[in-house]
Amino acid sequence: MSIFKTVSKEEEDVQRHLDEVFSKIQTRDPHEKEFHQAVLTFFKSIKPTLVKNPTYLEHQILERLTEPERAITFRVPWVDDNGKVQINRGFRVQFNSAIGPYKGGLRFHPTVNMSIVKFLAFQQTFKNALTGQPIGGGKGGSDFDPKGKSDGEIMRFCQSFMTELVNYIGPHTDVPAGDIGVGAREIGYLFGQYKRLRGSFEAGVLTGKGIGYGGSLGRKEATGYGTVYFVQEMLKNEGHQLAGSKVVVSGSGNVSIYAMEKAIELGATVVACSDSDGYVYDEAGINLDTVKQLKEVECRRISDYVDSHPSATYVEDCTGLWSIPCDIALPCATQNEIDEAAAKQLVKNGVKVVAEGANMPSTPDAAEIFQEQDILFAPAMAVNAGGVAVSSLEMAQNSTFSSWSFQEVDEKLHEIMKNIYQSCIEAAEAHGEPGNFSVGATIAGFTKVADAMIAQGAV
Ligand code: NDP
Repeated sequence: MSIFKTVSKEEEDVQRHLDEVFSKIQTRDPHEKEFHQAVLTFFKSIKPTLVKNPTYLEHQILERLTEPERAITFRVPWVDDNGKVQINRGFRVQFNSAIGPYKGGLRFHPTVNMSIVKFLAFQQTFKNALTGQPIGGGKGGSDFDPKGKSDGEIMRFCQSFMTELVNYIGPHTDVPAGDIGVGAREIGYLFGQYKRLRGSFEAGVLTGKGIGYGGSLGRKEATGYGTVYFVQEMLKNEGHQLAGSKVVVSGSGNVSIYAMEKAIELGATVVACSDSDGYVYDEAGINLDTVKQLKEVECRRISDYVDSHPSATYVEDCTGLWSIPCDIALPCATQNEIDEAAAKQLVKNGVKVVAEGANMPSTPDAAEIFQEQDILFAPAMAVNAGGVAVSSLEMAQNSTFSSWSFQEVDEKLHEIMKNIYQSCIEAAEAHGEPGNFSVGATIAGFTKVADAMIAQGAV
């Protein structure tokens, strides 16, 4: 039986095609469940445009789009502080270069495997297209766990990782950045090793660099700020505003911290945030200076928040976060962190907006619940695109040997987020799904990539 709902004859034909392609993907790589999930969600969303434009099927666009142009795995040997050799696995998936050089972050986390990297690189392709910048899609990383490692170990790991990665990247071919476990420190070590191996200063090869050597002001804040700018547009369209609303944010990393910062600046109260061990609830509003000190400076656990804020509560269960009543939920930690039960709880507690700061944080069941219940729900592809958009602005500054002010970058980011919002709204409306941001974002991104692929022939 088909996994897609049927309505008309044209839809039936499209559906058969989607089923066939999806089945081939499952057969070919049966263990890649995160990648399957991303493809299935994507297929559901683009169905209306395939029905309207059969030319995409004639060009075998779906088969081509779901196969990465290149997927690299490599050994990463490094020596720990005890002199023992450790081995990790490195990945880079160069998914699609139809509209520009591959672009996407590196994730260092023990859960990283080919399925995770493929799902991230696949979604990155359409997200990047949606930004309006000339960048293709890629992603990479390693199953290396930076937690508990010394600075020297992190540096030696990054140097070894780059010693292999250098063979595949460059300012005009593939430009990595940070993601989970890869922040300014790691990008610094990776850039240093790239420069040494190449023997030239190619600033545009990595983004998220330190400001003193080619980084862009506003990049650190971009994903979190962009998330909140997108939410602001959603609320504005409904005649509401952020000021006075209660917000719950998962995680306490790069995306979370700057989403909290912008939400607070715009008058919202952030009542809870988390890490992978548990969450803190502070009814008076989370003190962001404390979170920054704990997470950005001291690399400590969110549980330590209550030491300086005794009226706050710490609960050792990171998923329990979603049972806290709020108007706006911003999942900013990791994939599949909101499941069906969490989504039901959020709806029951009266959530009005769910915007995905992290990549694929809602399971398909959870996303369906938000859509059925008419919650304002926006997917990662649109919501967290601000990070890569400003990475692209960093590349532009590097290539022209210029550096823009924070305000200039932030204004451009704000404009890009408004444009992304508009593209989503228009694409959703044009395909008979008004207000469906998942359909709007996916179709707007897909159309750009697919049209470029057709124009470039079977490559
Ligand atoms: P960070 O490493 O800076 O922070 C990740 C945060 O999520 C940490 O607080 C971490 O807690 C928490 N976390 C990780 N795994 C889990 C888990 N299984 N359950 C609960 N919490 C968890 O990463 P980023 O902020 O950079 O990235 C967060 C998300 O945003 C990812 O999905 C990433 O792909 C996406 N993203 C990031 C962009 C960027 O510019 N950084 C751009 C676009 C998307 P702990 O410290 O305990 O590990």
